[in-house]
Amino acid sequence: LYPLQSSKRCAVIGGSGFLGRHLVEKLLGKGYTVSVFDIRQSYELPGVTFHQGDLCDKQALLTALQGVSLVFHCASPAPASDDKALFQRVNIQGTQTVLQACTEAGVQKVVLTSSASVVFEGTDIKDGREDLPYAKNPIDYYTETKIEQEKLVLKACDKEKGLLTVAIRPHGIFGPRDPQLVPILVDTARRGNMKFIIGDGSNLVDFTFVDNVVHGLILSAESLRPESPICGKAYHITNDEPVRF
Ligand code: NAD
Repeated sequence: LYPLQSSKRCAVIGGSGFLGRHLVEKLLGKGYTVSVFDIRQSYELPGVTFHQGDLCDKQALLTALQGVSLVFHCASPAPASDDKALFQRVNIQGTQTVLQACTEAGVQKVVLTSSASVVFEGTDIKDGREDLPYAKNPIDYYTETKIEQEKLVLKACDKEKGLLTVAIRPHGIFGPRDPQLVPILVDTARRGNMKFIIGDGSNLVDFTFVDNVVHGLILSAESLRPESPICGKAYHITNDEPVRF
């Protein structure tokens, strides 16, 4: 017997990661039943069911998505990995597999964590709106695959078929347990490798506190209804002002 589908039953793909775990904790606090799907299990939490597997494996996904009506897709290889084939496999083919599995499992909503870098082409953006075009020359291969991933998810939004999708685009995420952004900056500084400036020191960069990203993800999930204007759209998410770097 499949568990009964309920709007409060969700899955977080990449739920063992930095953002995913913060999202899981907030969802539990809001009364959601949460399944985590990830290639690794990095913690234990009462009320969370862990499914260890690769998101490129549809059968493994289908097991984890039984009875689930809402899926948050927050999994990606680390941007620093520089492994083209891995980005291609996980972010593009894997996302196709996630969407197929969601359709087969009767999932109603998919919320993707995309990236603000999908519109960045090397020139500062201030007050950038969502109608900016995708970067023609993405800054790296990770971003190239995040663009394709976002297009796939937004294109899959189909009210007739009963699958609604939306994407949230943060830039650098910081907060407790951040494994990358701040630790890498601190480590680089400690090794004395930050004693030079690229450019004239006025480049803009945007950071978002992890709780704000989580808030944006949950708000978009809860607002995603067939009549909602957010269906099939992407939204930038930020704190307030970008930082001069
Ligand atoms: P993270 O590395 O902490 O978490 C990603 C998780 O995905 C990990 O737990 C990893 O095990 C899992 N994963 C990777 N490949 C997988 C696969 N094949 N199958 C199943 N699980 C897999 O990264 P994060 O910082 O939490 O990022 C979450 C999302 O936010 C990603 O989509 C990333 O592109 C996006 N994002 C992050 C930042 C940032 O600054 N951290 C900024 C913009 C966008």
